[in-house]
Amino acid sequence: MKKEPFVTLEQLKEIAETYPTPFYLYDEKGIRENAKALKEAFAWNPGYKEYFAVKATPNPFLINILRDYGCGCDCSSMTELMLADAIGVRGEDIMFSSNDTPAEEFAYAARLGAVINLDDYTHIEFLEQTIGKIPETISCRYNPGGIFQISNDIMDNPGDSKYGMTKEQLFDAYRVLMKKGAKRFGLHAFLASNTVTNEYYPMLARVLFETAAELKKETGADIRFINLSGGIGIPYRPDQEANDIRVIGEGVRKVYEEVLVPAGMGNVAIYTELGRFMMGPYGCLVTKAIHEKHTHKEYIGCDACAVNLMRPAMYGAYHHITVMGKEDEPLDHVYDVTGSLCENNDKFAIDRKLPRIDKGDFLVIHDTGAHGFAMGYNYNGKLKSAELLLREDGSVQLIRRAETPKDYFAAFDCFDILKDLV
Ligand SMILES: *Cc1c(COP(=O)(O)O)cnc(C)c1O
Repeated sequence: MKKEPFVTLEQLKEIAETYPTPFYLYDEKGIRENAKALKEAFAWNPGYKEYFAVKATPNPFLINILRDYGCGCDCSSMTELMLADAIGVRGEDIMFSSNDTPAEEFAYAARLGAVINLDDYTHIEFLEQTIGKIPETISCRYNPGGIFQISNDIMDNPGDSKYGMTKEQLFDAYRVLMKKGAKRFGLHAFLASNTVTNEYYPMLARVLFETAAELKKETGADIRFINLSGGIGIPYRPDQEANDIRVIGEGVRKVYEEVLVPAGMGNVAIYTELGRFMMGPYGCLVTKAIHEKHTHKEYIGCDACAVNLMRPAMYGAYHHITVMGKEDEPLDHVYDVTGSLCENNDKFAIDRKLPRIDKGDFLVIHDTGAHGFAMGYNYNGKLKSAELLLREDGSVQLIRRAETPKDYFAAFDCFDILKDLV
């Protein structure tokens, strides 16, 4: 897939006059078109709902755009629940899919009326003790073990993953939950991450639909929804083909009609918890080349670092880079594009063929709209950048200001010495 920025050099120059680099920029138009396409792809299922995985891009302005298309929030922690609550996403518009869950998070999720998705069999008792009962609507996360046959760098080996219950535990969980008062059930699994194939969801759907039909038969549980979770990927590399969400939706529909309808389960709602697919391509990290260094290799030093985007350092992930204004120049230089951390893995690209880069050039690092900004940290005392939204009308809105030293030192509030910081 050809990688083209959703912003021009002229626009970037103008934006940078108000908001210095580095910054994250999101594309409202792209987010809307994609959310609409997803909704249409699953329109065959009347109960369909996307619960956006808040952890991917926890920005209330962006989540509010998705809400225009009926999306709820998939939360995994206390602060993500708080964020959902703060913007008015409540009750069954929240899916709480967490693991290793602290008691206070279950308590808060229950207070908000969120749908709780249990990661483990032992969480039944833990939840009951924490909130004094079992909610009438409850979901369980399934892990069939073994290997899920779609190869992928991040997660393709359920037998090796910490999430979910075994099949035996799942069946026991449903029985115990029913005894304890649960009336409406959901089933969830997340078996592979960043899948760039239209086959993943239909394959996962078959596993879940068959299991749900068995569960219904053996336990009599009233299964209301099946949650296909996240995992639909995006083409980070130019040689990858983008998923076609219509083909994916149609693939799931076929399996639904083949497995669920004959089992008398033709009214089950399909839920998704997509993160990367919803936002990944519609955000980029904009940085400027500030140094060049010629030693044993050729280095370009930019003003962003792994604090702004950790995926290359953490997973060796590829993010395409466009040198703005030089799109048509030959790729006749080989660079390591680095940040300033005192960590040799602080590189956005290694041995990347690029056009000649000059100091002051704008670099657009593509596909950082999900699991990008959110993974940021503060190593070397580096601060998080601003997040900006490129509106459909071409204007730019600040949707999160850049951190200041005061934010960095905020937790030292007992120390007078820092009180005059700005
Ligand atoms: C991370 C996560 C998601 C979103 O995953 P993507 O790969 O961004 O689609 C959804 N559900 C759960 C439980 C997750 O942990």
